[in-house]
Amino acid sequence: MIKRIARKPIVEKRVFLKFGFVIVKSQVCLCPKCYHTVNAGPNYQPDHCDKCGQRLKFDDIEWEKDEELGFAVRRRPNEQIEDRVV
Ligand SMILES: [Zn+2]
Repeated sequence: MIKRIARKPIVEKRVFLKFGFVIVKSQVCLCPKCYHTVNAGPNYQPDHCDKCGQRLKFDDIEWEKDEELGFAVRRRPNEQIEDRVV
C-alpha cells in the first residue's frame, strides 16, 4: 500500500562524460525507495519508478541545465572519469 503514496525523488548532481570527452555536471533523479536512476527531465517526468513501481511526484523539483565543466584531458591512457556524486 505504501507504493500508492507519491514521493519526491532524490535529486543529485553527477559529473559524467558526454560524447566521451565533455565533462558535464548534470541533475539526476533517483527513486526514493530503490535508488534506481529515474529517467526524468524538464520535459518528461514518469509518474512511477520503472523498477520498483514507487509513485513519484516532481511538483517542486527545479530543473537545472547540464553544466559543461570543460573537456576531459586524460593524463594516463586508462584514466577515466567515472560517475560520482558531487
Ligand atoms: Zn524504485
